[in-house]
Amino acid sequence: MSTVSDYFGSQVFDDRVMRATLSADVYASLRKTIDEGKELDITVANAVAEAMKDWAVAKGATHFTHWFQPLTGITAEKHDSFIAPAPDGSVIMEFSGKELIKGEPDASSFPSGGLRATFEARGYTAWDPTSYAFIKGKTLCIPTAFCSYGGHALDKKTPLLRSMEVLSRQALRILRLFGNDSAKRVVSSVGPEQEYFLITKEMYDQRPDLRFTGRTLFGAKPPKGQELDDHYFGVIKPGVAAFMEDLNDELWKLGILAKTEHNEVAPAQHELAPIYTTTNIATDHNQLTMEIMQKVAARHGLVCLLHEKPFAGVNGSGKHNNWSIATDSGVNLLSPGDTPYENAQFLLFLCAVIKAVDDYQDLLRISVATAGNDHRLGANEAPPAVISIFLGDELDAVLRAIETDTPYEGAERMQMKLGVDVLPKFNRDTTDRNRTSPFAFTGNKFEFRMLGSSNSIACANIMLNSAVAESLRIYADRLEQAEDFETALHEMIKETIREHRRIIFNGNGYDEAWIREATQERGLLNYRTTADCMPHLMDPKNVRMLTSLGVFTEDELRSRRDIMLENYCKSVVIEANTMINMVHKRIAPAITRFTADLAAQMAAKKAAFPGLACSYESELIARLSALTDKIVEKSNDLEKALLGCGMTEDIVYESALIRDTVLPGMTELRIPCDEAELLTAKSYWPFPTYGDILFSVR
Ligand code: ADP
Ligand code: MG
Repeated sequence: MSTVSDYFGSQVFDDRVMRATLSADVYASLRKTIDEGKELDITVANAVAEAMKDWAVAKGATHFTHWFQPLTGITAEKHDSFIAPAPDGSVIMEFSGKELIKGEPDASSFPSGGLRATFEARGYTAWDPTSYAFIKGKTLCIPTAFCSYGGHALDKKTPLLRSMEVLSRQALRILRLFGNDSAKRVVSSVGPEQEYFLITKEMYDQRPDLRFTGRTLFGAKPPKGQELDDHYFGVIKPGVAAFMEDLNDELWKLGILAKTEHNEVAPAQHELAPIYTTTNIATDHNQLTMEIMQKVAARHGLVCLLHEKPFAGVNGSGKHNNWSIATDSGVNLLSPGDTPYENAQFLLFLCAVIKAVDDYQDLLRISVATAGNDHRLGANEAPPAVISIFLGDELDAVLRAIETDTPYEGAERMQMKLGVDVLPKFNRDTTDRNRTSPFAFTGNKFEFRMLGSSNSIACANIMLNSAVAESLRIYADRLEQAEDFETALHEMIKETIREHRRIIFNGNGYDEAWIREATQERGLLNYRTTADCMPHLMDPKNVRMLTSLGVFTEDELRSRRDIMLENYCKSVVIEANTMINMVHKRIAPAITRFTADLAAQMAAKKAAFPGLACSYESELIARLSALTDKIVEKSNDLEKALLGCGMTEDIVYESALIRDTVLPGMTELRIPCDEAELLTAKSYWPFPTYGDILFSVR
């Protein structure tokens, strides 16, 4: 039996393979391209393509594809085989540098939000050499960016790469001020913890709502849910363990550093966390992870649900985006250091994040906005839609001491003079309440917890990288002009803390009182839905920041807003139609059948035993009949609400309309249906219940 280290990365054209298969010159040029972004010339590209093809063919690959991330949020691929005809009627396997570097998929059906008129349907894909090529099935996949011929980004990778670049540039300016002349790049890294549900395919197939929308639209709360907290970190069931084992194997072969796995809070909920890597590769790997989870689940007769809120009243699934920045030599800039100077530098980067999160709360909220995640934020065990930062009491006390020029009252009493004093060592706060914060400092990284389980992590990291780059840009502008660096730094940090104190909150984020305080006293934003937040992408301050840094053009931003809102509208409308369909085709007939049988039984009983009251049957019939009437009434209301949609081209208006009419109509319709489920005999109810589904995997 082979060990993990034997097959780890066996499907990846990684550094080991490059070194082994490329000539020293070619390898050196490619390395320069990967590490420093140097342009690659065509002879080098040809040599790399040849080596890649030989390696892939030897591993059984027959096709190649440019693998990219259009704005649908999932990945796209179009396979071409390597074969080329030879004069003698046979074929040879061919792959050129040109094909490696650039592809022209007919991508007219991908959303472009008006950036690519359909008559010039073709965008192009361009190789991203910073993310290794890999083999999936029989196909060599080449990670690529996707752009229109006008140069507009049509994908999530392009702006992510741009945001990494601007963050690096601005962070280097700061490092130079601190006397660091050796760092060449600053890299943002992320370790995304991925939550998901596993249920049996048998259950899934019986639920049209799960099949069409990824979540249950009906379902009464089960008698046993997550109340006992007996699932979190509990023993993993054999069926789940077999899935995880298989999944790890697949991920490891693709060089994905799957590290931890455990049960989550809800029954049937689990989590997988990889070891962190650069935001660019982590994004590619997370997309692959989500795809492979679903594939492996299918092999085990299971379905992996990545929806943010597959079951109402039960924990939703998120993705914790553990984010940090480090120099190319591996120095984590969010890690408190050992010398006063390192500490001053740490506090500057910390303040840059605090300022960024406060100034761009809206962009962070927007970066996680989907119809699915709207159901999760602010519900059971999920952060609210209000953004705040958890720093922990110790670090908070340090900042207060700096802000007010008073001694820090930690383990020892000391005046905090930047660049002079050593910071006290902070213990990582491990109290439970920090789990309630949407954005928590966890010792040497920030954990952004608002991402939904199905979100691409690209969007959150684009906004995070950009907003922090903007803080650093402002800081660098100021410090580069300063007469006395240390005084200016001290003042700047004090000022940041004073101006942005409102975003720091160490208490319980799940508390209703916090939402009131946040919105009414602190003036923090609370955008509950995608329809609320998404229009603010175009707020002048956001457009100015993102365009001046060169992460997006204004057109790109507008197209993204439109696409996200269109997705929101479409998702909700599909859900509403699914509900109406389920009511008419399944739920109402089932209740009617049950009540008719009850009535027949009651009549038979009364005929056999005249004088019997049969109050059980008669009361139940009355309650169910009333509920059926209510269900039909609410279903008709929802249909009417749907008729009011789709009348306008104005997507901002349309999304608000859907939020205000369709979504509430769905909630209203669900209530009598769930009540009826509880009253209807099991053999009549047309779908598996929450209890059946959540405890289906053995
Ligand atoms: P938890 O949040 O469950 O306590 P950890 O803090 O150990 O777990 O790690 C969670 C995730 O954070 C993992 O994916 C891990 O690789 C990642 N991580 C750890 N250190 C860093 C870092 N410096 N930068 C980015 N991600 C990190
Ligand atoms: Mg965590």
